[in-house]
Amino acid sequence: MQTRRLLVTLFAGASLVSVDARITALVGGRLIDGWGGAPVNNSIILIDGERIKAVGTADTLPVPAGAEVIDCRGLSVLPGLWDMHVHTMLLGHSDYTHWDKTYPARFEKEIMPAAAAQLLHAGVTSAVDLGAPLTASLNVRARIAQGEIPGPTLYISGPFIQHEPYPGTEDFRWGIKGAADARAKVKQLAEAGVDVIKLIDQDQMTGEEIEAVVTEAHAHKLPVVAHAHRPDEIRLGLKYGVDRFEHTGLATAPEYPADVIAALQERTAKMALGPMYWCPTIEGFFNYEYNVANPMHIEDTGWQAGVPADIVADIKQSLKNPGWLAYYQITPLRAKTSAAKFAQLQKAGLTLLIGTDSGIPMKFHNQSTWRELDIWVNKLGVDPMTAIRAATYWPAVSMKVDADYGTISAGKYADIIAVKGDVLRYINLLQRVDLVIKHGRRVK
Ligand SMILES: [Zn+2]
Repeated sequence: MQTRRLLVTLFAGASLVSVDARITALVGGRLIDGWGGAPVNNSIILIDGERIKAVGTADTLPVPAGAEVIDCRGLSVLPGLWDMHVHTMLLGHSDYTHWDKTYPARFEKEIMPAAAAQLLHAGVTSAVDLGAPLTASLNVRARIAQGEIPGPTLYISGPFIQHEPYPGTEDFRWGIKGAADARAKVKQLAEAGVDVIKLIDQDQMTGEEIEAVVTEAHAHKLPVVAHAHRPDEIRLGLKYGVDRFEHTGLATAPEYPADVIAALQERTAKMALGPMYWCPTIEGFFNYEYNVANPMHIEDTGWQAGVPADIVADIKQSLKNPGWLAYYQITPLRAKTSAAKFAQLQKAGLTLLIGTDSGIPMKFHNQSTWRELDIWVNKLGVDPMTAIRAATYWPAVSMKVDADYGTISAGKYADIIAVKGDVLRYINLLQRVDLVIKHGRRVK
């Protein structure tokens, strides 16, 4: 239906009836359009090519004769999900040193495409890939955009910008030495066409370096996404004007220091700067101990889809003892403090976004996004509509593409998912979406 353009005119008696076979109609679903209002029962969504043509109900919007009808009765229909923090170059293997040494040559052609396809089939129609080799990121984004391989609309950072790369990671971690170097490297990324700058370990940089990163990125109209593992990363990020923070903190401190919260509140009060975004990537803390005791999510073969057999075997082997992974040694301690920090961020007026760190050890692309939503709603008490908007409307606004994405509205791209049952009552129904449409094309 994307490329087919078939207009058939039929004569019915004396009257001329136009039959438009380009139109796809989603009929009868309960629509959660992303704007935050009450869901609309018995909805009709008309899709014409890549875009949404009209949205209404059975009472207000007739389905054109000849349209392809998709029966959505009994389904919740909502905008395609966004995941604001994924790593398509990772597939859940537990050992970064081994992964970074063994697989870079296979990132672009095998690993990143498999990750992208898994995300899309999980209902993620847009994703922000934060940290991967530049050329591979550009090429994978382009191949998805051209329809050569399945995947979410991808927004990429290319390499991390940091003080110094960890040995062996220079291809996707660029160290900077001085403000001029910082400016040059950000310029190089911007001119190559990245969508966002990922800044980490900024508490190890000089103020001049951080300022250079942020001002150069903003000169190219690129947002800066920064780690917030340590209070100084937050303090410096705010001081130099980063646009978004990631994670809730490596430290096991029970809460954010008062001066950090005050600075965040001061920032969120500056309406002219727009919302201050934060992507807590918090699910792992709450599920870790359960997952170790009940590793069914590792047995789920969905994460193996499209992954070459030798890599599957290697990942499985690396996760044989899920409770022994060094990466998660202090996770149980961090888990105890993360709910309080999440509440502090909510209270300080941050605009929280769904992002997952998908691809890190034991976290798989076919599962990450719905799990984050599940924890927000069922452990952190977030209203389901708010959680859904943190994965649809707000991500599109934050990436400044809300004219085309983020809600189910006439004129926007038809990125739509549907799932049997009521997602506002049972958010984790999203673990098994029944329908995925991206840019008007049904992919599931
Ligand atoms: Zn990450």
